[in-house]
Amino acid sequence: MNTHHASCSASALPAVASSDAVPGPRCATCGAVTSRLTYFKTRSSNRNGNAGRPYLKCMICNKFVTFTDCRGINNDAPRCVCGLLSRQQIAGRMGTRTPRGLHYVCSLGQCEFYQARTNAQGEQQVLAEHLIDLFAKLNVI
Ligand SMILES: [Zn+2]
Ligand SMILES: [Zn+2]
Repeated sequence: MNTHHASCSASALPAVASSDAVPGPRCATCGAVTSRLTYFKTRSSNRNGNAGRPYLKCMICNKFVTFTDCRGINNDAPRCVCGLLSRQQIAGRMGTRTPRGLHYVCSLGQCEFYQARTNAQGEQQVLAEHLIDLFAKLNVI
């Protein structure tokens, strides 16, 4: 199962291909590589625009690692610590500091990169509830 990002644009991949770096998602906490991670799919009842989305979880850490699709990986995204285009996501409605806040994370889940998407005033941008499904369909998030 090394087909992650197969359908993503090449710009999502590292600028310099390195043969000694193991490509692919990796647990940022324990370093487990893709073959040690477990594939899941989000529930169809997911309310974050993430219904039926494939993702990897580290069973050792009991922790979500990354989505394995191309959603949210856009050319205007900042680069994460790995040098990859980061993935734009939206925070949940509850239990987060900025509900529905847009933010960027490592597209492979292998570094702890986090950056809020901010407006000209430096405030985190929040997506209106009724736009979430549309943005998800357009692969913006
Ligand atoms: Zn782990
Ligand atoms: Zn990264």
